[in-house]
Formats: sequence, structure tokens, C-alpha cells
Amino acid sequence: MRLERLQEDFEAFAAIGRTAGGGSGRLAFSEADRQGRAFIRERMAAAGLEVYEDPAGNIHGYRPGREGGLRVATGSHSDSVENGGHFDGAVGLLGGLEVLRALREAGIVTRRGLEVISFLAEEPNRFGLSCIGSRGLCGRLSRRLLEERRDPEGRTLAEALRSMGVSPEALLAVRPGDFRCLAFVEVHVEQGRTLYDRKVPLGLVTDIVGAYRYRVRFVGQADHAGGTPMDRRRDALAAAAEGVLAVERICRSYHTRDIVGTVGALRVVPGAINVIPGECEMILEVRGRAHFPKSIPVAEIRAAFEETARRRGVALEVETLMEDESRPVSPLVLETIASCAEALGYPYLRMPSRTGHDAMHLAEHSPVGMIFLPSREGIGHHPAEWTDWEDIEKGLRLLAASLVRLADEDERSTNGREAAPRRP
Ligand SMILES: [Zn+2]
Repeated sequence: MRLERLQEDFEAFAAIGRTAGGGSGRLAFSEADRQGRAFIRERMAAAGLEVYEDPAGNIHGYRPGREGGLRVATGSHSDSVENGGHFDGAVGLLGGLEVLRALREAGIVTRRGLEVISFLAEEPNRFGLSCIGSRGLCGRLSRRLLEERRDPEGRTLAEALRSMGVSPEALLAVRPGDFRCLAFVEVHVEQGRTLYDRKVPLGLVTDIVGAYRYRVRFVGQADHAGGTPMDRRRDALAAAAEGVLAVERICRSYHTRDIVGTVGALRVVPGAINVIPGECEMILEVRGRAHFPKSIPVAEIRAAFEETARRRGVALEVETLMEDESRPVSPLVLETIASCAEALGYPYLRMPSRTGHDAMHLAEHSPVGMIFLPSREGIGHHPAEWTDWEDIEKGLRLLAASLVRLADEDERSTNGREAAPRRP
């Protein structure tokens, strides 16, 4: 593996859409995103990979193995948040590409083919739907979603996809399970501080936390703040405030179950100093690990909202934005990565991923695993995001060893057994 070459790719990629704050600005469906994807396609081709795009707009760089059949894949997303860090997504995508380049230079041909995938629109974006590429690849996008999701300018998701060269018809024809791989391993920065605080270079993800998100609207009556007595008001913001505190109280009561709940966005209408808020809209998000259903605290929260609305005489509307289940990774892939880490002498920690990733969607039909790298001070989605290059190198050496082992192993063999003898 050549770290300097990877660093050059990193710098060139970070320069595409670099923000005034020095961060990455390849927001999904933007011009910078398009340029970023063109860069990835060009680097994949230069690495001698067979480059193709799937119906969901993800870019694949494939390297054939000695046999056909299911392939072993790695990769990550090419987009970023509006003013994000340079490592989120890039480390798994450009890192995966470097691993495939290094294997080629070392003359290593695996039994099964290897592939690096660049996923489309993983990050939160203007359509309020993340992981669009991996959802699409797994047949999880509906016509309704494509037609109803709009950006603030009113452009539908279907139109945005078309502008990236994706045919909505072809995308909607993808059925769950059409895309499967022998294994998928994603390298990603942690975006939390567990590894950083404990000074461990590698995290082996045990399960990936999915989020439930809802748009909640309290509708009361906008009135003059001076002329309306306190007992005649239907204040939508006051109702929403009770709602926010209920979210905190209920999620706190589930903290031993690893449930977290947040209201991170709030919109007050009309939002004037001397007008009682007539409408208040908020986005509720609840996350939790695979072992405990998020539906339980969510039902409690909804009941609390309804009680508040009734008591205060305001109307309540709840719209489901997404309900992503949390998924455990494949034990076989996890143990393969762990045994490779041990063989390399790298310390690691087993840990959940508290953020969603493309791997979570692929996990429905393919065995997946994830390798986390430390984020300095736990910072993520910010230009100050940083991961030390020596940790990246360890992560990619571990990725290379894991991909080779997974791609050489017999499909039916259990982990820990010797790989099946190679065909002449
Ligand atoms: Zn990411």
C-alpha cells in the first residue's frame, strides 16, 4: 500500500467543493458532488478496475477473481454534508480503492472478485432522506418517495436523480435481494470519541444503529400577543415545548436500553415577537441498538404528544420520515476481521455504530462488517474532523487482509477453518 498516493487522492478529492470554512462541500446532487463522482470514476479506471454504475447511481470498480459468482465488496459514500470533514466517506472509498490498487501491484488475485463501491447520497441532504444509493440498490425506494420528496426549491427526488444520470424507472425496477455480495466491509471514521478516548486504533462494529424520524406538527391559533388573555390561548410552541421535554424524559427512562431521542429542528409560525405561535413543526429522531425495539419509546412519545395536544386544544399531525431498523453485522464477517486484526497484531475494540451507514442497508441481503477508525476529539461532520494517517494505514491493512480472506474462503466454509484449496 502506498500511503503517499492515497494522500494525494485525498487532497485532490477534498479540493472538490472545498468550503470557505476549509471543509468538504460535496452535498448530494450538487455540482461538487457530480465532480467528486467523476473524479472517483476516473481514479477507478486508472486503477485498472472495470467501472460501471448500478441502477441506483452507485459507481462500482470491479476486479475479477479466479472464479465468478458473488463478489466481496468494500467502499463508502462520495458525498458530504454542507460543510463537513474530509475523512467521512472518503477514508472508506479512497482507502478501498487504494487497497485494490495495492493488491493488483502485489500480484494477488483472489478466488472471488473484489469490488469498491462509491455510494450516492449517503449523508443527510436537501431531500431529507439519507443513504439513497444503498436504499435504491436494495430495492427500498418507492415511487411515492421519488415523487413526493422535494428539495427547498421544489425539485423532486426523481428529478434530482435524473440529473445525476439515474433513471427512476430502472431504479424502481430493482427488487430487494437483486444485489447481493459474498461480504461487504466498510471502513469509516467513528464520528464519536470512544476509540479516541481509549487510544485504540480500530473499532470492529457489532451492530449498526438505525434511526426513526418523524415530522411533528402542533397547530394552534395565532393571535395578538397583547390582546389575547392567557386562558384563551392555543399556543402551538408551548405545546411543542412540552413535547420536547417529554421526548427527553421518556428517552432518559430508557437509557439502560441505549435509546436516545432528539428534537434538533424546530420551526415556529409565524415566528413574530408579538404573535402567539399558531403552528410549530419539529423533527423528532429516536435511535437505539438492535437488541431493543425503538417502537416502544416512540409509542410512549406519541401518547405524550396526543395528551398534550388534547389538554391544550391544539391539533397534532405526525408524519413518518423514516423508520430504519438497527442491524447486527454478520458474525462471520466480524470474526474474520477480528482474526485478521489479531494476526496483524493490531489492538481493537468491539463497539456498536451509533450512526447509520450504507452497510446497514446492504446488511438486509448480504453479510456486512465495518471497521471504525478514531476521530480526533470525536469530531464529525465538521471541517475539523481528523483521523491520524497511521490509524488509517492500520485500518486499510486490516481491510486488505479481511477482503482477501473473505474472497478466498469457500462460500459455505465456516469461519476459522482453513480456506478451501485453490483450484489449479
Ligand atoms: Zn459517512
